[in-house]
Amino acid sequence: MRIKANLQGDKGGVVSIGLVVDAKDEMGLKWSSWLKSNLEAELQKEFPQFLWQITLIKRHDFPNESPVDPLILLEFGSDLKIEYGFDFVLMITSMPLKSRFSQGASGVPSNMLETAVISLGKILELENKEKIGKAFMALTKHLLGHLWGLDHNQKSVMRPRKFWDGEPPYDWSPEEKQEIIRHLSQVADPRLEEKGDIKSRWRFYLQVLLQEGPSIAKDIFLFRSVLMMFHLSRFIAATVVSVIFLFLSAEAWEMGAAMRTGWLDFFLLAVIIAATLSIYYGQNLQAIGKSDKMKEQAVRSKIVLFGTLLVGMAAFWVNLFVISFVIIKLLPASVLAGWAGLGTKPLPALHFSKLMATFGVLASAVGGNLEEEHDIKALLVFTEET
Ligand SMILES: [Zn+2]
Repeated sequence: MRIKANLQGDKGGVVSIGLVVDAKDEMGLKWSSWLKSNLEAELQKEFPQFLWQITLIKRHDFPNESPVDPLILLEFGSDLKIEYGFDFVLMITSMPLKSRFSQGASGVPSNMLETAVISLGKILELENKEKIGKAFMALTKHLLGHLWGLDHNQKSVMRPRKFWDGEPPYDWSPEEKQEIIRHLSQVADPRLEEKGDIKSRWRFYLQVLLQEGPSIAKDIFLFRSVLMMFHLSRFIAATVVSVIFLFLSAEAWEMGAAMRTGWLDFFLLAVIIAATLSIYYGQNLQAIGKSDKMKEQAVRSKIVLFGTLLVGMAAFWVNLFVISFVIIKLLPASVLAGWAGLGTKPLPALHFSKLMATFGVLASAVGGNLEEEHDIKALLVFTEET
């Protein structure tokens, strides 16, 4: 598909979007066909350098709970994206969405899965069809903007809103359009598996990493990975409790005194990686985007997911380190030196802060697996709730 487009020379390539609706959802179907023709016309006008293919897919296996969990729709959408070979998927429903982190949501995009969920639930309550159409289109463009790498902007359709009421702004700014073109030119390049030189799993992962390294890094850091762990209450509680116990136990101090710096550094690296792996597999995160083995997009999502978790864990360690350091400085040095069996020697505060933070992360990995699986996944997968 894309290769054909590239041979046409002047076109930047095909961008395909799947609109997926529940076959039993009458309102959803009606508005999705409306969206298909209007969105196609609009995108073709705004971005004539691409060939736009928008396909409406009716599915009989839509989850039919209400309110519907956007995480389930996102995972379903990302499987369909791979199955049908779409570049992006919009899951459309007239059911309200269950919201996790905010007060009610009409849309949930996921950059990682290149999929977004749109609920017409509240939009259908607007007074007339014209308003409904405007609100639906603005929300769709806002979500696509996120999937195409845009951030929020008060002056364009990327303005964050509490409620999608059909009021302007309706358009992307000229700068945002440039950014979209840059982003989509990469998407429209042939994917690795289309070039057909897949040798082994590890080589494929390495190829994706080499080819997309900078953009993967950008995704990981844009993705509030640094703040991630602080949304998980049980995770934090487990960590705080264990760090307090550590501070009160003489063994921890004796162990710290006995451990050499080189060993401690090795130990802390191993703990951060082990804790990340334990949450990644413990929470079944490797199953995201599961319906394939070697597709570039799926491999990319997995690298971003693992990287986000790793950076989140490292940032969490840094925080624990700073907190431990402050506590050590606040406590009387002679008492701590006594606990550590150092006698009258000065207490190496940095060394002990490292040790406490490392034990904290170790404890948190256990706590992280107590956390509701869906909350960790949602935190990693949702770009926002709007
Ligand atoms: Zn937004």
